[in-house]
Amino acid sequence: MSTKDYRSKRNFDKTGEPRGSSGRSSSKKPQFVIQKHDSSTLHYDFRIEADGVLKSWAVPKGPSTDPGEKRLAVPTEDHPLEYANFEGVIPEDEYGGGTVLVWDRGSYENVTEKDGEIQPIGKAIEAGHVLIDLRGEKIRGGYALHRTGSGDNARWLLIKMDDEHADARRNPVSTEQKSVKSDRTMKQVANDEGGNDE
Ligand code: MN
Repeated sequence: MSTKDYRSKRNFDKTGEPRGSSGRSSSKKPQFVIQKHDSSTLHYDFRIEADGVLKSWAVPKGPSTDPGEKRLAVPTEDHPLEYANFEGVIPEDEYGGGTVLVWDRGSYENVTEKDGEIQPIGKAIEAGHVLIDLRGEKIRGGYALHRTGSGDNARWLLIKMDDEHADARRNPVSTEQKSVKSDRTMKQVANDEGGNDE
């Protein structure tokens, strides 16, 4: 069953009727990727598919599986969807120069609610309150992305939700360091000259 016809007849900016889905025209699930990036400072680029691009945050410490840990997430520029596949070496004299490794990836479900309905992911990001359910190989379950403060004091936090995937003892950032794409270490990716994207 598809709600495409139902949706095509309605303007959901004007009607209060439920969308029946997140509004995507295809049934393909939106993707997320976490890329470990050894640039001027080591960080993890957390990217989620939204409105045809990868919305991106740089997370210095990477994601935690402990709901008690709040991880700073600094917004960065939108990236094209194809970037989720990128693994290799960015030349040192280029923007973001350094080694990039696909640390985790998978699909996600937007579970952000507003007024009892799922709020479109783009709007949720704009509003600064995002709830997503991640289905990665290392990172699973609910995560919140919250913007606090405003103006120059605005900052985002990435926080594990307290669900069955929460685990304060796991620390995948340090215990599961290899690429989920190529099973390589950062060093191996760095040593493969020319930024092998396989
Ligand atoms: Mn980066």
